[in-house]
Amino acid sequence: MNTDLLWRAEALCAQTDPEAHYPEAGGTSAPAKRTCIACPVRRACLEHAIQAGEEYGVWGGVGQQELRRLIQARRAETEAA
Ligand code: SF4
Repeated sequence: MNTDLLWRAEALCAQTDPEAHYPEAGGTSAPAKRTCIACPVRRACLEHAIQAGEEYGVWGGVGQQELRRLIQARRAETEAA
């Protein structure tokens, strides 16, 4: 197993409702974000999503639009370095 993904074993969404993290268009991401707030691996999850370019769903308490901004910002930082 990729040790960078060990945080997934503690993912709170896996114990609740993973589907809530992929709301349909026009749906709410609020329940997913509430789960993330209590999740012990929130930081690792968000970092994974940014590094892996996960543009869909709620990751680390961050919704799709904000996540896309963070991914673009990271790519810009990487390209500038
Ligand atoms: S931070 Fe949210 S999306 Fe990430 S593992 Fe935890 S509950 Fe799941």
